[in-house]
Amino acid sequence: MPSDLVFAPLGGFGEIGMNLSIYGFGDSRRRQWIIVDCGVSFASEEHLPGVDLILPDISYLIEERKNILGLVLTHAHEDHMGAIMDLWPRLKVPFYATPFSAALFEARRASEPGAPEIPANVVPAGGHLSLGPFEIDFINVAHSIPESNALAIRTPAGTVVHTGDWKIDPTPIVGGPTDAARLTALGDAGVLALIGDSTNAVREGRSPSEADVAKTLAELIRTAPRRVAVTTFASHVGRLRAVADAARAAEREVVVVGRAMERVVQVARETGHLQGVQDFRGVESYGYLPPDKVLALCTGSQGEPRAALSRIAQDEHPDVTLSRGDRVIFSARPIPGNEKAISRVINGLVEQGVEVITDRTHLVHVSGHPRRDELRDMIGWVRPKILIPAHGEALHLAEHADLARKAGVPHVLICRNGDLVRLAAGGPEIIDEVRSGRLYKDGALLVSAESKTVAARRRLSFAGIVTVALALSEKGVLAADPEVELIGLPETDAGGASMTEIARDAVEIAFDALPKPRRRDPDAVAEAVRRGVRSAIAERWKKKPICYVHVLTV
Ligand SMILES: [Zn+2]
Ligand SMILES: [Zn+2]
Repeated sequence: MPSDLVFAPLGGFGEIGMNLSIYGFGDSRRRQWIIVDCGVSFASEEHLPGVDLILPDISYLIEERKNILGLVLTHAHEDHMGAIMDLWPRLKVPFYATPFSAALFEARRASEPGAPEIPANVVPAGGHLSLGPFEIDFINVAHSIPESNALAIRTPAGTVVHTGDWKIDPTPIVGGPTDAARLTALGDAGVLALIGDSTNAVREGRSPSEADVAKTLAELIRTAPRRVAVTTFASHVGRLRAVADAARAAEREVVVVGRAMERVVQVARETGHLQGVQDFRGVESYGYLPPDKVLALCTGSQGEPRAALSRIAQDEHPDVTLSRGDRVIFSARPIPGNEKAISRVINGLVEQGVEVITDRTHLVHVSGHPRRDELRDMIGWVRPKILIPAHGEALHLAEHADLARKAGVPHVLICRNGDLVRLAAGGPEIIDEVRSGRLYKDGALLVSAESKTVAARRRLSFAGIVTVALALSEKGVLAADPEVELIGLPETDAGGASMTEIARDAVEIAFDALPKPRRRDPDAVAEAVRRGVRSAIAERWKKKPICYVHVLTV
């Protein structure tokens, strides 16, 4: 077909995080592309030791670079924006974002030493963008960060609504509610496909409003006997505003603690999202304010060890301390994988006699994603011919698909990262596969998830390593005592025998067991010694270490 409209996710389908989708128009030889979002996932320490972030593999986009018209950002959450800094230099395509997202991106970039210049083209909130055959409208949706947008992507082959992250919140504190009128108008004009947020597709009903959370926070802050600290996601400006309003009503000064939150507050003030909110005080004034006149707004809601609240919980923060009778409110929910880190922080606070309030007992947090009744409303407004569930793990995608079928959407397709889908009025079809995968941010470098680096590190983390160095003469005689070193192994076995000695004996036994002519072959010696050491240690330990044998011929 000459005017094919295709779609492919390169991240975020079958997982929550690392969102990156592409849309292509034109026949396969002259296809032009737009990219929607370019986010990261966060690695949990145990599973991927030493890895900070997970990014989508964009080798396919690098190949297609000349045909890419632009990268469009729906909103400034890290799972949508966080990979741009590392990946954009490989693409250098025009980058488009609304004012708050562009300013927050720039502030993040500027805070990173040596980060490349990445110019953002600013599209006004609710604005429009023409990129070749794509006419893109930004439609306001409520979420947990200012200026979240659904994108209506109009092409000669039909209109796609890409929801981004959204919920229905009639009273969202910051920004307008989800623009039902515009979405309904799109539905009236005819929508080919809806690519939609599935995060909360397993939850019945509707999400509570930010205004409900604000009420609870105000009550908890008003009744606090001494100091109050609130932690939430730094980028959740609506929540920051709710806390600031509650503090003002309770005659408390707000002190912002943590760089990420300072940055967001500054960007939100510059872009008009904190209009009318009182000035906050610098962290250095915390100690001078009476306990019932101060509120600390802290980073660290996910238990991040270097964030403000973790340091406060360990009593290691230079300016901010809490003590018996103070109240800490966790106005956030754990992102899966962070539960242990958060427990550590909570336990640290409880041990200091601090009262900790979480969403287990109070409505101090709501999700920014739509529950099932909200998903049904979106389908009712847009009335798509095709629905493809996005932004979810397998279960979320399946539940969203099932709901869509029951709501009467004619064609529902579940697809995964790397599927190339043709969107046509007669129904979508997976026509090809494009390269997809993961990259790990490892220190300053990006490594492929398929490389052996991280797998080897994981093995090292539970089995330790033995290195053996042998000096071998040309005649196949050991020229010196073998050097044996153990890293990460128990020092002795159950009977108290030294593991180093056990390894050393195993080296000699393995070497002596080799027939004389074989002893002249360094590879044969290395392999025999390796096997001997591993099995001798495994016999005592019931675990096999990694073993490296270096044979030097002298
Ligand atoms: Zn998201
Ligand atoms: Zn989001």
